[in-house]
Amino acid sequence: MALHRGPERHEARTVSVNPFFGAADPVGGMAEAPPTHRLPDAPLPPATAYQLVHDELMLDGNSRLNLATFVTTWMEPQAGVLMAECRDKNMIDKDEYPRTAELERRCVAMLADLWNAPDPSAAVGCSTTGSSEACMLAGMALKRRWARRNADRYPGARPNLVMGINVQVCWEKFCAFWEVEARQVPMEGDRFHLDPQAAAELCDENTIGVVGILGSTFDGSYEPVAELCAALDALQERTGLDIPVHVDGASGGMVAPFLDEDLVWDFRLPRVASINCSGHKYGLVYPGVGWALWRDREALPEELVFRVNYLGGEMPTFALNFSRPGAQVVAQYYTFLRLGREGYRAVQRTTRDVACSLAGRIAALGDFRLLTRGDQLPVFALTTADGITSYDVFDVSRRLREGGWLVPAYTFPAHREDLSVLRIVCRNGFSHDLADLFLDDLTRLLPELRRQPHPLTRDKGAATGFHH
Ligand SMILES: *Cc1c(COP(=O)(O)O)cnc(C)c1O
Repeated sequence: MALHRGPERHEARTVSVNPFFGAADPVGGMAEAPPTHRLPDAPLPPATAYQLVHDELMLDGNSRLNLATFVTTWMEPQAGVLMAECRDKNMIDKDEYPRTAELERRCVAMLADLWNAPDPSAAVGCSTTGSSEACMLAGMALKRRWARRNADRYPGARPNLVMGINVQVCWEKFCAFWEVEARQVPMEGDRFHLDPQAAAELCDENTIGVVGILGSTFDGSYEPVAELCAALDALQERTGLDIPVHVDGASGGMVAPFLDEDLVWDFRLPRVASINCSGHKYGLVYPGVGWALWRDREALPEELVFRVNYLGGEMPTFALNFSRPGAQVVAQYYTFLRLGREGYRAVQRTTRDVACSLAGRIAALGDFRLLTRGDQLPVFALTTADGITSYDVFDVSRRLREGGWLVPAYTFPAHREDLSVLRIVCRNGFSHDLADLFLDDLTRLLPELRRQPHPLTRDKGAATGFHH
């Protein structure tokens, strides 16, 4: 979470209470104005407290117009009812809530089948708070397996993890938190993700694994996981090094199985040891759920699994948190049951159609050059066309905000720091109709942008506040 500091001097004030609130509350009478940054001395009537918090939140954005996030912003009312029914359930209390635990187990089994585990009964997996926690767990398993293999041979050696420079920030966190060297393959020309050969060349006897991303948060492209495995097969033949692959399928893990069935990226590749996805991205559940699966028990060292008996039962768990809400796991099971393969295919197909169509129509405006077309993840990145000098992507991002649209603009990492892009993430709920309205707004802005003397958004970070 954001690392907050204490209150500034000017924040030593009170929340303003509308005189109506007191009069409208028959029990509480007129409430005293509570302080904003100190625990109030006395309680407030619930109606007043509710109204104060509710009013403060009016200034949050409209999540459906947010084209920056991958995370689900719409679910059916029935899912909302189920989640409300489960809001008191703690995922860790597997003994008290055995049915919730069973639904989690079924979700793992469904994902093992969806991701083509050769023996679904041998696969192991768990729910997490999101892909970040799932990636931490997968990285820890890789590190432990490396330590087991190498403890005697290379005492004191420093482990490393190989990945593209386009990885999501969770992998940089994993490396920082668990003291693993991050070896990153830079971008090159029009290659905006990992190159299999370059990745294999970065591997040595202290490489705990290679991360392949399906697909990249920077531009929505799928990394070539099968080619990566082939490059590592060749490396093994040459050197004897047997390097496992983890697939970060945060988004694509719930897109490719439905729309790209011929793409081989999952447990069909023997080198793929583990896979994660975010249930709350294209898994279509509100924020708070991810999944991590290992091909078999071999891939997940037993000593990382904890069993506690003080809540009753002896359920093995692998997690960073102890307590965690159960509602999201229930909602994931609901969504699996509700949509099935056909339903997921239809939803993801529509989302990708919207992405491809919008990308094509933006390209036709002439002012932009597409880096990707939305035909892998329903996500695409674009930059201004050659010859556009009066404005840049940061201006476009800032001006789109006037209509409520959130579209991040950012610069690419090494070696393409020269490239600044806009990224549009299409999700279920961003319909063809909304895409039309978005295009209308963008089209209306262009004449003004073209009349600018030069790009105007100087403070680029502040313009978008983008964190990929
Ligand atoms: C979003 C994302 C993550 C982090 O997932 P959370 O569910 O937000 O924690 C990790 N990797 C990739 C590729 C992502 O897109």
